[in-house]
Amino acid sequence: MNQPVSRTMGQQFGRRSWAEPWKIKMVEPLTVTTREERQKALEEAGYNTFLLRSEDVYIDLLTDSGTSAMSDRQWAGMMLGDEAYAGSRNFYHLETAIQTYYGYKYVVPTHQGRGAENLLSQAAIRLGDHVPGNMYFTTTRFHQEHAGATFHDVIIDEAHDTASLHPFKGNIDLDKLQRLIDQVGADKIPYVCLAVTVNMAGGQPVSMANARAVRELTARYGIKIYLDATRAVENALFIQEREEGYSDKSLAEILREFCSYSDGATMSGKKDHLVNIGGWLATNDRELFEEARNLVVVYEGLHTYGGMAGRDMEAMAIGIEESVNVDYMRSRIGQVRYLGDLLDQWGIPFMKPVGGHAIFLDARAFYPQLEQDQFPAQTLAAELYLDSGIRAMERGIVSAGRDQVTGDHHRPKLELTRLTIPRRVYTQAHMDVVAESLKAVYEARESTRGLRMVYEPKYLRFFQARFERLPG
Ligand SMILES: *Cc1c(COP(=O)(O)O)cnc(C)c1O
Repeated sequence: MNQPVSRTMGQQFGRRSWAEPWKIKMVEPLTVTTREERQKALEEAGYNTFLLRSEDVYIDLLTDSGTSAMSDRQWAGMMLGDEAYAGSRNFYHLETAIQTYYGYKYVVPTHQGRGAENLLSQAAIRLGDHVPGNMYFTTTRFHQEHAGATFHDVIIDEAHDTASLHPFKGNIDLDKLQRLIDQVGADKIPYVCLAVTVNMAGGQPVSMANARAVRELTARYGIKIYLDATRAVENALFIQEREEGYSDKSLAEILREFCSYSDGATMSGKKDHLVNIGGWLATNDRELFEEARNLVVVYEGLHTYGGMAGRDMEAMAIGIEESVNVDYMRSRIGQVRYLGDLLDQWGIPFMKPVGGHAIFLDARAFYPQLEQDQFPAQTLAAELYLDSGIRAMERGIVSAGRDQVTGDHHRPKLELTRLTIPRRVYTQAHMDVVAESLKAVYEARESTRGLRMVYEPKYLRFFQARFERLPG
């Protein structure tokens, strides 16, 4: 289980090169800008990469959300959209795909992951409840708190340590979970939110053994488990590679077993499912299903489309099947590791081991001269854009938001800048360009100044906050 974890796929197969199990059928031109143009664009965007126009971006690593390239089969599926308001044939395809690959009984479609989080939170949480989770995710925690719960991080300590090489850094700490149950009482915990992989920890996986152990513990108290299954297939590859007893199992088998330790899941189809929009809530709990299916018509749309077009549901059903192809998944995660290996060779600091969907640069190590209140991770994202037009995003103090009670910043231990790799979109040469630009930014680190926030939105501030460069 403790195999070395940062290595290229080439090394794994004895120095033979590997490549993606697909070829390119259609191309989309990219814009190359000058440094002056980028400086202007960055100022107009208030030093927030979310506020840049995509046409001013060269390589877009803002997110892997909804940025996947669809396959020819998915595009063909788009032509088979049944755009009936009720009972679209594509919904039944999607429902069957979810039941087959994830194993849950009841499915409620939503426009994307946060729609499902809203439904689950409203249906399951009562004012004064407590929801434990492995680290947190912005929209997930927002909906839990909005429904009246207090969120508790019960991830293992290693997840907060950028140097720890733990193979399953996303695991839940059973002692922390037990302590919370003792403290607040099981009846105040509607469910444990188990995210796989853990986005905010660097795309770190959760082991099968941990899922099983959390199931055993919570079953004693009648507490449910809901997965944030957004990258559960990526998680399955880590289990296949690193956990004893799983190297001969298929990704589909691993996924089914993992989901069997939960009562349901929320899903952002924009990640694992290889589509540009869509999501779902699934559950084995008939009562919760009835409630969510009732709420979906208020927030999303009828229960057989939930905010998606018929064609979107068809593309997602096909994407689910493609996502469990092991050659695809190896190339997906292999590309992220390729970039990680390059950065490692040049001593550029980032979170290890490399996770499933992104490289998380350690902005504190880039800029030790900057206080956290000077937004080191936001600064690094701005510097990278300025150097080469590559768009990254902040995952640090800005993303963490403010404490609802004290009004002060949440101050996460991790101050990270995320380079998220879209699925099936960029080439190895693009990864080289990214690494070379980061090297230049790293070499200029000592003279880099921080930022101050000049506009702060009330909710999920990282999306729309504006900054200015601190005077020199
Ligand atoms: C993207 C994401 C979500 C939210 O999904 P959307 O489709 O963006 O609404 C929830 N959890 C995790 C871990 C995510 O990465």
